[in-house]
Amino acid sequence: MIQGIALIDGNNFYAACEQSFNPSLANHPVVVLSNNDGCIIARSPEARDLGISMGQPYFKIRHKLERLGIIVRSSNYSLYGDISHRLMLLLNEHCNEVEIYSIDEAFAQINLSSTKDFYPWARRLREQAHQNLGIPISIGIGASKVQAKIANHLAKTISNHAGIFDFRTTKDQDWWLESIEIENIWGIGKKLSKWCRERGITTALQLRDMPSSELHAKCGVVGIRLQEELKGNSCMKLKVKPSPKKETCVSRSFSRPITKIEELRQAISTHLICAGQKLRNQNQLAGAITVFTHTSPFRQPFYSQKATTQLETPSNDTTVLLTAARPLIEKIFRPYRLLIKAGVKMHSLQTSKYLQTNLLNNEAIEHLQRSQRLMKTIDRLNTRFGKGTITWAICRSKASWEMRREQLSCATTTRLEEIPIVYS
Ligand SMILES: [Mg+2]
Repeated sequence: MIQGIALIDGNNFYAACEQSFNPSLANHPVVVLSNNDGCIIARSPEARDLGISMGQPYFKIRHKLERLGIIVRSSNYSLYGDISHRLMLLLNEHCNEVEIYSIDEAFAQINLSSTKDFYPWARRLREQAHQNLGIPISIGIGASKVQAKIANHLAKTISNHAGIFDFRTTKDQDWWLESIEIENIWGIGKKLSKWCRERGITTALQLRDMPSSELHAKCGVVGIRLQEELKGNSCMKLKVKPSPKKETCVSRSFSRPITKIEELRQAISTHLICAGQKLRNQNQLAGAITVFTHTSPFRQPFYSQKATTQLETPSNDTTVLLTAARPLIEKIFRPYRLLIKAGVKMHSLQTSKYLQTNLLNNEAIEHLQRSQRLMKTIDRLNTRFGKGTITWAICRSKASWEMRREQLSCATTTRLEEIPIVYS
């Protein structure tokens, strides 16, 4: 059995999702904006070639984008999330084990029985991703996660490699490692790379070959692990099962500053409803809730406030969360403050498999079971018919503070009424 670890990454993922579902955007420069249409967070290769860089505030380059004919899109996370899910399903079909690393990135264990050559396997996977999802991917293969990460970087940057690079079989490992700057090694961190530079260690090759005793003295087993991974000795296992979350946070900036308590109440309740659903999806209960809000840090006087409460019994029932948070909202609100953001944080999380309640109180248990059934039904309806089909009365009216998304594309794959119509 020949083994390898692959890092599979969607190229310019958000822009690629937009292009995939709108044929008129293919080969056209596209940029995607962050929440509230703030700044550029993704570009198609065509936009990059026109000199548009990441992180630029939209309002500053709006005219330039118009002049260059670049298409602008607000971020459409329901579309990107769904395409990501489909990509991960595809990886599960083609790989032995998959660790989802981010929305567009996954590590995978590959075991091939008959051949050392992983290129045909990688080419097939790329073709499938392109044909089934319209998404270009890069595949880096190594003997360890760190090598796979380096290989993926090389797959993306060397044009004649067509998006695939197998580090294990390349003859020039040292030459490639020499081309990787110390800061670009996965997992090295700012402190360690600065320490390395001070010692004249500036490339991945030099880090691999430096005395391990020095590295151990500086950062213990973490440094040794990194060095071994660079040598091709796998020390970091794939995390196939995601570890339970310690905290769940939902927060948003407002499209305009708000000053009324009703608006703050509606915003925080909307975030709580979302957080409740997240907790139920994660099979977790919250033991405590924090709500927070603040004004713009660029304007004086700055105001920021948060308030926390412990729940008597840990819960993921939206009604319980809303009731517990209500007095907190009064606590953090001050009139005449121009609030620009609000959010909720769920902490002291625990699994929803076990719950300690008062065993003598039969009525409480019955009530709990009834509310669990209700939450399940609401979640099911919202999954089937679209987000917000069933919600709490506080969110019923349209909110004028909601995030700015002026260039939003359709929820093509998650909302029945937005499925594109094909004319024959
Ligand atoms: Mg990517």
